[in-house]
Amino acid sequence: MTAADQVHEWVSFEDPDEQRTWIFDATYLRSNHKCIYGEGCQGVLDAPAAEMAQGCCSYGAHFVDDDDVQTVVKAFVRVKPEHMQFHAKAVKGGFLRPEPGDDGETGTMTRLVDDACIFLNRPGFEGGAGCALHIAALDAEQRPLDWKPNVCWQVPIRLEHSTDDNGHVTSRLREWKRRDWGDGGADFHWWCTEAPEAFAANDPVYVGSRDEIVELVGRQIYDLMVVQLERTDWVPLPHPTLRKR
Ligand code: SF4
Repeated sequence: MTAADQVHEWVSFEDPDEQRTWIFDATYLRSNHKCIYGEGCQGVLDAPAAEMAQGCCSYGAHFVDDDDVQTVVKAFVRVKPEHMQFHAKAVKGGFLRPEPGDDGETGTMTRLVDDACIFLNRPGFEGGAGCALHIAALDAEQRPLDWKPNVCWQVPIRLEHSTDDNGHVTSRLREWKRRDWGDGGADFHWWCTEAPEAFAANDPVYVGSRDEIVELVGRQIYDLMVVQLERTDWVPLPHPTLRKR
């Protein structure tokens, strides 16, 4: 793809309360992209593996800080064996993997069982395939994002911050790109924001992922963002994945 083929358009405004500039990827947020776990997601291995239903859970989840770990510690107490295929293994050996892992990976991560995250129920498990934390949260009529590691409810949305020499913060909300997985991302056979079949939602990202975005940026900023994304005097370019078709 040429640089022109990859253009996204963004909206930006100043935070009303602090020294921060917000930047939003309007091209992505107005697209109809969605996570298609169980609906054609080919996974992030080096070959197509839709039938394994691993989604992006093949390598375990990196926790961002201790609060993130504690969210899952508290959630796990409420997860029952009927929700989680590997519940007994997690009770016996914990759900965190020793550091560094076999592959030399450092940082606090979920443990792997049978080559994927310990929380990932495999196809055929009677409690349902997919994330056991997600399944248990829905069973408790709670939001999965309050039970899961941060990365697991944020992907395929990403918020990043940078601070300039004067202490001014710039915060960008955008799609999670292949490169955001680090070096390993280049080896993925497939990545959902590059896949036309994942642009299948009925609503745009900023509507369908409202809870997640509010959790990331706060309600006030979300509302200010919606005003910009719904401007009638301007329509951002369609997503590059759809333009290239
Ligand atoms: S975020 Fe993308 S890779 Fe991960 S499970 Fe969803 S569709 Fe698959």
